[in-house]
Amino acid sequence: ARAAAEKAPVTPGALADGTAVPLLANLGNSAGAAEALELGAEGVGLFRTEFLFLSAKEAPTVDEQRAEYAKLLSAFRGKKVVVRALDAGADKPLAFLNDAEEDNPALGLRGLRALRANEQILRDQLTALAEANADAGADLWVMAPMVATVEETEYFTSLARELGIRTAGVMVEVPSIALLADRALAHTDFASIGTNDLTQYTMAADRLLGSVATLQDPWHPAVLRLIEQVGAAGEKHGKPVGICGEAAADPLLAVVLVGLGATTLSMAPAALADVRYSLGRHTADDARRIARAALDADDAAGARAAARSAADPAS
Ligand code: PEP
Ligand code: MG
Repeated sequence: ARAAAEKAPVTPGALADGTAVPLLANLGNSAGAAEALELGAEGVGLFRTEFLFLSAKEAPTVDEQRAEYAKLLSAFRGKKVVVRALDAGADKPLAFLNDAEEDNPALGLRGLRALRANEQILRDQLTALAEANADAGADLWVMAPMVATVEETEYFTSLARELGIRTAGVMVEVPSIALLADRALAHTDFASIGTNDLTQYTMAADRLLGSVATLQDPWHPAVLRLIEQVGAAGEKHGKPVGICGEAAADPLLAVVLVGLGATTLSMAPAALADVRYSLGRHTADDARRIARAALDADDAAGARAAARSAADPAS
């Protein structure tokens, strides 16, 4: 499958019945843009802006940010680019946003919480993005990280719109907002599921700790059932639900995620070919059936095995 996928011409992501599933790239800087496009990325599904400022002592100015964002946005002119507002904290602390003294930084003032406590930094970032894209001409979407409540969803969406962002959304990485996706999506334009953190918080297993790595598995039916709820909410509201965690890079899990209602998948560019090939082997009905098999398992290993036999009954 790998060799076939690498030789195939780069076509847009789609299921065997023609259902489009745009395949997007996760990027942490503009240097990877050309390679992502070469590998067939149809846009960017997660631009991790905090990676640009990991060593900064002070918050970057609007001018500095505008210049950085313009590089990426202009490389994707006319294409979708989902930018994440600074996701500071825990595994990616920023000196100008986080308090290093917290006992439990994964549960602390991180992501949108930290931005809200330093609202000028968030305002500057949203302003810089809107200004950069006025020239760059990408289809710019901006989302907030680590959102836990409907009120935070409304807060971010209205602030982003006030500052000139046309399409604003939230990441679903905390179980509370997955459970309330139906309410949250009434107040915002889209959701994007970060399966790395959603798994960490659902399983109460630190994503950086090897001794609990077997629990940090996005195939776990508990995680899949949360994703199913978000997918159903997206369908009900007619709003896009993307996936931007590592789960989207697993070719079979990608099919399951589409079966659960994901409308786009974003991943490290190196994974695009194998995921494109895998999606092309299954129809939307197949994807729903394979997802159902995984949802009905007891654990991650069972979900994997059930999906595998649902996908390839002969094997
Ligand atoms: C995630 O949590 O799945 C995600 C996409 O964000 P990050 O890995 O940068 O925390
Ligand atoms: Mg995350």
